[in-house]
Amino acid sequence: MQINEIASMTGARLYGQSLRDIQWLLTDSRSLCFPESTLFFAIRTKSGDGHQYIQDLYDRGVRAFVVQHMPDTAMQSDATFLVVEDSLTALQRLAERKREEYDIPVIGITGSNGKTVVKEWLYQMLSPDYVVTRSPRSYNSQIGVPLSVWGLNERSQIAIFEAGISQRGEMEALQRIIQPTIGVFTGLGQAHQENFTTMQEKMSEKLKLFKDCPVVFGLDTTTPEDPLEHDRNLCVQVCRHLGMSQDVIDQRLANLEPIAMRLEVKTGRHGCTLINDTYNSDLNSLDIALDFMNRRPERDETRRVLILSDILQSGIDPSHLYTHVADLIQNRNIDQFIGVGSQLCAHQDCFAHISAQKTFYPDTTTLLDNLPIIYEARNAIILIKGARPFHFEHITSALEQKVHETILEVNLAAVRQNLDHYRTMLDPTTKIVCMVKADAYGAGAVEVSKLLQSQPQVGYLAVAVADEGALLRSHGITKPIMVMNPEMSSFQTLFEYNLEPEIYSFRILDALIHAAQHAGITDMPVHIKLDTGMHRLGFDPLTDISRLAHILKHQTALIPRSVFSHFVGSDDDQFDSFSAEQYRRYQIGAQDLQSHFSHHILRHIDNTAGIEHFPERQMDMVRLGLGLYGINPRNNQTLHNVTTLKTTILQIHDVPATETVGYSRRGQLTRPSRIAAIPIGYADGWDRHFGRGKAYCLVNGQKAPYTGNICMDVSMIDVTDIDCHEGDEVILFGAQLTPSELARIVDTIPYEILTSVSDRVKRVYYQE
Ligand SMILES: *Cc1c(COP(=O)(O)O)cnc(C)c1O
Repeated sequence: MQINEIASMTGARLYGQSLRDIQWLLTDSRSLCFPESTLFFAIRTKSGDGHQYIQDLYDRGVRAFVVQHMPDTAMQSDATFLVVEDSLTALQRLAERKREEYDIPVIGITGSNGKTVVKEWLYQMLSPDYVVTRSPRSYNSQIGVPLSVWGLNERSQIAIFEAGISQRGEMEALQRIIQPTIGVFTGLGQAHQENFTTMQEKMSEKLKLFKDCPVVFGLDTTTPEDPLEHDRNLCVQVCRHLGMSQDVIDQRLANLEPIAMRLEVKTGRHGCTLINDTYNSDLNSLDIALDFMNRRPERDETRRVLILSDILQSGIDPSHLYTHVADLIQNRNIDQFIGVGSQLCAHQDCFAHISAQKTFYPDTTTLLDNLPIIYEARNAIILIKGARPFHFEHITSALEQKVHETILEVNLAAVRQNLDHYRTMLDPTTKIVCMVKADAYGAGAVEVSKLLQSQPQVGYLAVAVADEGALLRSHGITKPIMVMNPEMSSFQTLFEYNLEPEIYSFRILDALIHAAQHAGITDMPVHIKLDTGMHRLGFDPLTDISRLAHILKHQTALIPRSVFSHFVGSDDDQFDSFSAEQYRRYQIGAQDLQSHFSHHILRHIDNTAGIEHFPERQMDMVRLGLGLYGINPRNNQTLHNVTTLKTTILQIHDVPATETVGYSRRGQLTRPSRIAAIPIGYADGWDRHFGRGKAYCLVNGQKAPYTGNICMDVSMIDVTDIDCHEGDEVILFGAQLTPSELARIVDTIPYEILTSVSDRVKRVYYQE
């Protein structure tokens, strides 16, 4: 569609170029894919305002925006703005117009449960005969439905859209957009009751979807006996209505696949097969998963294990609900049932009549502590199904067969939580410079920066050298990037990738001015470093400033964006008076520099420890490093663990007391020992000083000391007192054995432990 058509369809005022081909609608800036042909709707919701992301999207190449007011910056003269009263309404109107162009059967699905299942199954049944356009995943909201309808195209022969509402008045809008010609009502449960006073009210609101709909299918089922059967029946009715023969219906029913994105099959330990379904936990999806498990080609005698969490927000009375679960377990021939959660514990009696072996745990941690009970299940097939808050991914990972590799697991959610932790100590207006130098302290700068750049209050990312900045830019990082140690040879990279260097000496200042002038650069932001006591890099705040200001004022290539310094000991109270002196020197230098310029030069001095210890010195910005990565330099245990370095046991030897282990016979034994070899060595950045019994790792939660010298690629550990097997997981550092603890043992600092893990150790990212 052309942008001017969209303007007239939505009743918008158009500013800027009126011909632009729009193929994609965007409401969440993180989902941007094809900037040139995207139209961004800046929508205000309870949780945020899309108008804030316009500049960012512009920088990433988007040129078409639907807004409620024009942005302040004048620079966007080559962009098109459609100004409307309400961007969400405009999006919905556009979808309505789009829908009107299609004279095809449109199936509209609503109801309390099972909408996505019915939609997906209908799709599976209809797609051999029709080109079907359907809502992606569960796009059924006020925003999701218009985006789904936008997916209609000239090939569409039938469409399936689901509609979900959470309060009164919402269904009218969805009805106008979907305009179903075939209605499907999956039933009314207790779920999402909050915003409705009565069931009647909820019912009549939902039925508004079918206002002008000539035919509606639904079954009388407040709590269906067999939800899956119920969903199947709905699909059958729709297919019949569309003229599908009973033979074809039967054949396609038999081939219905469970909804794929929810179920993941993995190889577990001890010959087990894991079916992982942590997507959600309702009765429908439990039955889908059990059904899936039973249909796998395992031998009949294979033991079937179900690990299930409490089923949350089902809207069904718990004893009714869990009796139903128990029936499912019985009917689906489960041999062992493990229930996790307080509700399941409280309703154990619902399971009294089933023949499966049963155990109940109050929470996931307790189950993890008792995992050996599952290890006993050899060659079993294990279905792991939990509601999100139960974090069953920890169970999956504990049961998974580990490939023989050493990995650094990075919990990105923890990085965000740590950022939030430090934000609570800051004024909301103080900007944060996130230090992602040294590959984000080993955690991986690209992934960490992708996460950080969209977080509130983050003003800058900071790297050590220009190449690190270039790498971030090439991965789509658009935030301003500070380069702390620019080298003379890297100036072209700075220019090319829009990186902002730290300037610490007259020599580098002159060279950069010269290079920038030569490259025709003006107003390149730079950051002035003052040496207030570290005596590493920086200008002298007492003697250098007037000369520095003079040089800066007599050129136009560079512009001082910030002036900063760095504490030598903000982590340690014994240096408090020296920190105060540093701060005093800094203020003199910073004020002096500022007095020569009319624009405000940003000030910053606090690092991680400084934020916590000297929040009164936060000024315009702070520089947050170590704390982001879960280590508190002031030794408070308040942060979330981010990185876990882990590996697996390669081999175990029983070694007589008379033998030695490793090079130069340094691993002396005092008793007959079990020695395990693990694939990590000094070439992975593992400190040789850890060897000869000084440090240890964790095997099944117990301390296993390093025996003998650490080798280049392998280390040996003593597991004599630990019940473990080849293939078992070994934690080298993580939440239970922190980098700080290892650092203490070999007399270094956690920074060194984190940044030493070499590139050949694969980084694996997850978000809880
Ligand atoms: C690394 C660094 C920081 C971050 O220090 P943390 O102690 O990790 O917070 C701040 N400022 C400068 C100049 C740095 O080099």
